[in-house]
Amino acid sequence: MTPDDLKALIRTIADFPEPGIQFRDITTLIADGEGLKASVRLLAERVEASGAQAIAGMEARGFIFGAAVAVELGLGFIPVRKPGKLPVETIGIDYALEYGTDRLEIDPSAIAAQQNIAIVDDLIATGGTALAAAQLLRQAGAAISHAHFVIDLPELGGANKLREADVAVDALMDFEGA
Ligand code: AMP
Repeated sequence: MTPDDLKALIRTIADFPEPGIQFRDITTLIADGEGLKASVRLLAERVEASGAQAIAGMEARGFIFGAAVAVELGLGFIPVRKPGKLPVETIGIDYALEYGTDRLEIDPSAIAAQQNIAIVDDLIATGGTALAAAQLLRQAGAAISHAHFVIDLPELGGANKLREADVAVDALMDFEGA
């Protein structure tokens, strides 16, 4: 399956979760066994080329692709979690959303000094989530040079924001619009 075949498996829902948003829904991609397998394989090839030693994925959809890529490559997986979920002492980062703020937390003891960790998520829009994850992982001592996504929404500028923070961005497909 090519990235174009995978793109055809993404469902677009207009005006979700609010008016004006075109929600790019991966549910239909991951429900297709061949589609899921091919998207994980393509992500894994690109992650392997970037020399990652571990994978970090953001709750919740980043867990699906990130953990699968980690298994494919025999690497460890670091969950970047929503607040209050980890049962140990965490470090966290607050970041701005379009309306309000959100927070990500990790267990810093899961990360070795200068470990090369690749970020994997389903989609990059404004880049706020991925940039916060990169900053948090760096704070724990990781080297973050690459972030991999199934979908990029280039018009929202997230990929450029990550590149400005010295994180190379790679996506299997782009969609136009917000
Ligand atoms: P952002 O922080 O703006 O890059 O958004 C990151 C997260 O929000 C992604 O991991 C997606 O899960 C979700 N998201 C944002 N915009 C969309 C969209 N148009 N369709 C589907 N998911 C989205």
